[in-house]
Amino acid sequence: MFNALVVNKNDDGKTSAAVEQLGLDDLPNGDVTVAVEYSTVNYKDGLCIGPGGGLVRNYPHVPGIDFAGTVEASDDPRYKAGDKVVLTGWRVGEAHWGGYSQKARVKADWLVPLPAGLDTRQAMAVGTAGFTAMLAVMALEDHGIKEGPVLVTGAAGGVGSVATAILANLGHKVAGVTGRPETAEYLEALGASQIVSREEINETVKRPLEGETWGGCVDAVGSAMLARVLGQMQYGASVAAVGLAGGAGLPATVIPFLLRGVNLLGIDSVMQPYDNRLRAWERIAKDLPMDKLEAMVRPATLSDLPALGADILNGQVQGRIVVDVNA
Ligand code: NDP
Repeated sequence: MFNALVVNKNDDGKTSAAVEQLGLDDLPNGDVTVAVEYSTVNYKDGLCIGPGGGLVRNYPHVPGIDFAGTVEASDDPRYKAGDKVVLTGWRVGEAHWGGYSQKARVKADWLVPLPAGLDTRQAMAVGTAGFTAMLAVMALEDHGIKEGPVLVTGAAGGVGSVATAILANLGHKVAGVTGRPETAEYLEALGASQIVSREEINETVKRPLEGETWGGCVDAVGSAMLARVLGQMQYGASVAAVGLAGGAGLPATVIPFLLRGVNLLGIDSVMQPYDNRLRAWERIAKDLPMDKLEAMVRPATLSDLPALGADILNGQVQGRIVVDVNA
């Protein structure tokens, strides 16, 4: 028997989450059984744990959109018992039971071997948010990062923290947008050289174009913030749009695209092909300083998850929450 956080749908249609004991026979079908060591708390996890059920496709459900651990049994020749692996995406934790469990069974195609230089805890300190931050940086690089600061919105959150640390480590000047002035010291320690308040970016401006300020942008917030930032980009610069923490709308005009050649790059971490995932994890091991990663981490256990799910939906989480599923 092993422990897992199970979300059940009650007779009144509401959901509730609690740690339960399960057996290997309870796990869904898959080629590889993994002894999970660590998982994390992402925005999507908050939705899946919360009372509305969010993105969950089937009940009972074990959430957790990412995990790292050791292969216990494998029907696929690419993996053998004892291999260290990491998983992000593929609707695990939404449509297929995920990482909030001491055991997981998944398709071999969804896994990536843990790259040299990262242990399972570090891999989950990065997690889906950090993996996505790396994909965003790679997309900006593919289109060329211009001179001048690179803006990171939602900077104190998971994606923002990792993006800040990677970009600064690559030698870029980073400006972090945050609604929490008390995180300024934390962001500076990650490498941000400029802190921009959320209010400053969100103030209403009628002009679709402003001064050419940012050489690139990783945007975790969307909505009015993204619309404003588009008009502040340098000529030909790119915005990697990662998230919608501020809302799904986009009250923008086409002017920044037409008159400044701004590129809006959509980043999706879920359906990334194997080669891209491997390349991103290898870049993470190379380009993300582990001491900075450690400064972002807050540890948690399976029983902490219901409260933490609510915190992340309220934008109250700083950095990355790493769940030790065996604690
Ligand atoms: P976090 O909650 O850790 O961070 C989001 C940050 O956004 C907050 O910390 C806060 O930063 C800021 N924020 C929150 N609410 C608002 C608001 N109303 N207005 C302006 N800023 C706000 O989440 P993650 O970093 O894990 O994820 C960020 C987004 O990226 C989410 O929407 C998530 O779903 C998405 N995402 C997308 C992925 C993909 O594949 N495209 C993968 C992973 C995540 P601060 O306090 O500094 O202002």
